[in-house]
Formats: sequence, C-alpha cells, structure tokens
Amino acid sequence: MGNKNIKTSKKEIVDYWFSIVDECGLSVDASEAHERCWRCGCEMSLERCHIIPDSLGGEDKASNLVLLCKRCHLENPNIADKDVMWDWLRAYGTSLYDIFWVKQGMKEYEFIYGKSVEEEFAERSITDVNHFDKIVKEQMRKTIFHFGHPYLNSATMAGVFRVSLKMWDKVN
Ligand SMILES: [Zn+2]
Repeated sequence: MGNKNIKTSKKEIVDYWFSIVDECGLSVDASEAHERCWRCGCEMSLERCHIIPDSLGGEDKASNLVLLCKRCHLENPNIADKDVMWDWLRAYGTSLYDIFWVKQGMKEYEFIYGKSVEEEFAERSITDVNHFDKIVKEQMRKTIFHFGHPYLNSATMAGVFRVSLKMWDKVN
C-alpha cells in the first residue's frame, strides 16, 4: 500500500475532511477522527489510506486520503472513483462505537450456522438480554485475553455467540 511514502499528515487529512464532510452517517465524529477508524469506529492505530489508489493515479493529498484501521484498510475499495470510498464508509456507518464487529459477527454467525442470532434467541425464549449479554461479555473477555487479539474479528465474534448459546443451554 506504500503507506510509509505518504507525506500528508493524519492531522491534515482530518482537518480537510471534517471541515467539508457531513459527519452524519459516518462511524466517527470530528473530535475522534484522529483516533478512531472512519469505517468501523474502533479505537485503533490508524493508517492513511488512498481514496483513489496511487497505482491508479491517486495523489498524496488530504483530499485523496482517509484514516482507517489496518483491517478496514485491507477491505477498502480500490477504485478510481472517489465517491465509491464514501459510499462504502457511509454504508458501514454506525452510531454505536465498538459495536461494528459485533454486527459483523452476527452476520457471520448466520452464514456459518444458517440461523440468525435473533432466531436462536427466539427458539430459547431468551427475553432477558441482559443476562445473555453477561455471558457474551464473559466469553469475549476469555477469547480476547486467551488469544491476545487486539480486537475480535467477525469469525471469533460468531464463535463467541455460539459458545454463549451453548452455555445458556447448559444452565437453562
Ligand atoms: Zn476499522
């Protein structure tokens, strides 16, 4: 990605975009744009990411750069059209920080097990979401510390749901 060669500073990128862009619908607001990923909203070390890739003629200018975490940087669209990046960022916009990967985990769960987490809840008549939440958080803590992941990927999050449902079944 040639990140090291970029001369534009992160501050210049934040200042440029948050002076002209309507932050509604983005995962971050102006005050946190220097420390939270613009796609997932997670507090992570951020990389400068070309909107139009340098290989496709994109320039080293604030207007052609956004800030993303490492994971989102790997998944961003590399297309010679600047609107696509913003379409993508807005599509993932969430107002709740750190919830992004939980949502991705729920999608992943449905993909793996052919059933949504909501359906699993309904089958078990889980109405006390707070109780289930406690189990999930406990499992998340174990997973994070055990494997030393800085944060959960969607497959791990799906696994956390699976294990939590098993725990639930054991005690209910
Ligand atoms: Zn991210």
